[in-house]
Amino acid sequence: MNNLENLYRQVIIEHYKYPRNKGLKGFSQKRLYNPSCGDDVTIETKVEDGIVKEINFEGNGCSICCSAASIATELLKGKTVREAKSIIEKFYALIKGEEVDGEDELEEAAVYRGVSQFPARVKCAALPWKALEQILDGEENER
Ligand code: ZN
Repeated sequence: MNNLENLYRQVIIEHYKYPRNKGLKGFSQKRLYNPSCGDDVTIETKVEDGIVKEINFEGNGCSICCSAASIATELLKGKTVREAKSIIEKFYALIKGEEVDGEDELEEAAVYRGVSQFPARVKCAALPWKALEQILDGEENER
């Protein structure tokens, strides 16, 4: 294992052990399940004036899925809905192994580039982000 892989692994383990924004408060929620791994994640967001004010999550799953949820809640909180959706698109491109314009916007989430080599793990990493995207789409439709 080279040092970079080691660093990536540390970020994932750290978020898995010490998840940020875990615990639901009753905002708009979306629960998604990944049968191939058993990941079961619920994401909730509070959007006000087009800004993602709060994101929380709850659920069980593998370290990739749970850490990706934790990182998503931290990264996207405080962003506008438009910015959040743009970052979600970048994350999908990243985990598929595609070139990403403005990869620095992904901050810690950039560590998931490595999962592109493991198709089963791509679903794990994407699951919480998909739940979040679906809630944000719903918020837009309400306008
Ligand atoms: Zn998983």
